[in-house]
Amino acid sequence: MNIQSSRFNGNVLSASKPLIAAGCLVFGLMAQPAQAALTFSFNYLNPGEGFDDPTFGADRKAALNEAANALGAYFSGYTAHLVYDVTSYSSDEYVLASAGSGSYPEPGTFQKNIVQTKIIDGDDINGSDADGYINWNFIWDWGLGDTVGTDQYDFKSTAIHELLHSFGFISYIGEGGTGLEGQAPGTPDTWSIYDSFLTDFSGNWLIDNNGVFDPSLVPALTAGTENAAGVFFSGENALAATGTGVGIPIYTPNPLEPGSNVSHLDDNSDISNMSIMNAKAHGHGLDVRTLGALDLAVLKDIGYSKVAAPAAVPVPSAVWLMLSGLMGLLGVNRQRKSA
Ligand SMILES: [Zn+2]
Repeated sequence: MNIQSSRFNGNVLSASKPLIAAGCLVFGLMAQPAQAALTFSFNYLNPGEGFDDPTFGADRKAALNEAANALGAYFSGYTAHLVYDVTSYSSDEYVLASAGSGSYPEPGTFQKNIVQTKIIDGDDINGSDADGYINWNFIWDWGLGDTVGTDQYDFKSTAIHELLHSFGFISYIGEGGTGLEGQAPGTPDTWSIYDSFLTDFSGNWLIDNNGVFDPSLVPALTAGTENAAGVFFSGENALAATGTGVGIPIYTPNPLEPGSNVSHLDDNSDISNMSIMNAKAHGHGLDVRTLGALDLAVLKDIGYSKVAAPAAVPVPSAVWLMLSGLMGLLGVNRQRKSA
């Protein structure tokens, strides 16, 4: 069963478009950077369109590969080759893109998805089928490179965001507290590993060890954002990262936004509002492209114990001198402002 989550463009919101995964493999493109432990193949399933557009396709594919490798750098402790089916469309809705990876339903359990299992356990549980999928909306003006125009959305930021959903940064909780198989609260259902760490403000689990959603906590799913009555991600690493004794605030807008609800860090909470895993892009232009402490904490809690920010690339000494000169100037400015 395929599960997806979407990223919105930050304007008016609407339901995400259901993804129909095509079954044919057109061709794969394999990126093999010298040191990356995660490698990616993308099967582009819309010949002549989107990522295969005769004019723009090559740059779009290159940007997707660069984004995947940038994300892969956080997973240098793992070795896996990930295969994605990539579709595209052009629709004047408010979804930028969506992505996911399948899980096998097993009522009463929290399941790693196919991509997550492949990275963490080294098991390819669906054989030669694609491990994950991405669906991209090319109606928007996308900034593919490292300069993103004031009318453009940041392609690489969005691609990293979407790939992270497919890595298991995703909830299976549906409207009214149903799970992957649509069971009502009170009945065992299948959930994501991510779901196993969700609580209310007081630390009460939304779903118990038997995979049963607590009916009394259904209102938390639509508590509105920046609201203590909402949902929190309360894994051990998450609690250490916030340092407040309360988990990371999770996005629970009211009304509910299918495909977006619960699968993101709260866009409106002060501690989580600049995460790459917020539900909406942070407007036009260059967006967040790095994983912060909260994002890394979630990934550790959902099983990626070896995830880590990539080592900084050494900067030549001449450049350091110039940078320290600039920092001196910035320091003066800062002092003036605060005086
Ligand atoms: Zn998303």
